[in-house]
Amino acid sequence: MENCIFCKIINGEIPSNIVYSDDDFIVFTDLNPKAKLHYLAVPRKHFATLNEMTKEDEQMLGRIMGKIPTLSKQLGLSNGYRLIINQKGETGNDAEQEVMHLHIHILGGEKLGNPNGK
Ligand code: AMP
Ligand code: ZN
Repeated sequence: MENCIFCKIINGEIPSNIVYSDDDFIVFTDLNPKAKLHYLAVPRKHFATLNEMTKEDEQMLGRIMGKIPTLSKQLGLSNGYRLIINQKGETGNDAEQEVMHLHIHILGGEKLGNPNGK
């Protein structure tokens, strides 16, 4: 997708610190980390939000989720981690999704507190 920063990272047009890559997704460090360790798991296929998901995308996201437990150990997250998807809605953007290419934040490396979603 043109003008999508994450597609550009996937295509190698923009540099990033990629820590994992396979046919389904890449994982790189967040440019502006919100925790001691902050990674983004980004599907290679461009779709903006969960609303655009197809059946194949559901399976692909399932495979991604299935790999995160193993990956977490390699990424220094054996003490636990938090996954976040900020999701823009049809009528607004309460979660403040900034990049319109679906991605999963993986946060950890320190006590994160329990904000119950906030
Ligand atoms: P979100 O608000 O869920 O859309 O999160 C977008 C995330 O992408 C933010 O945490 C940004 O810090 C991160 N981000 C934006 N541009 C880059 C980039 N070029 N490399 C790595 N992370 C980025
Ligand atoms: Zn994209």
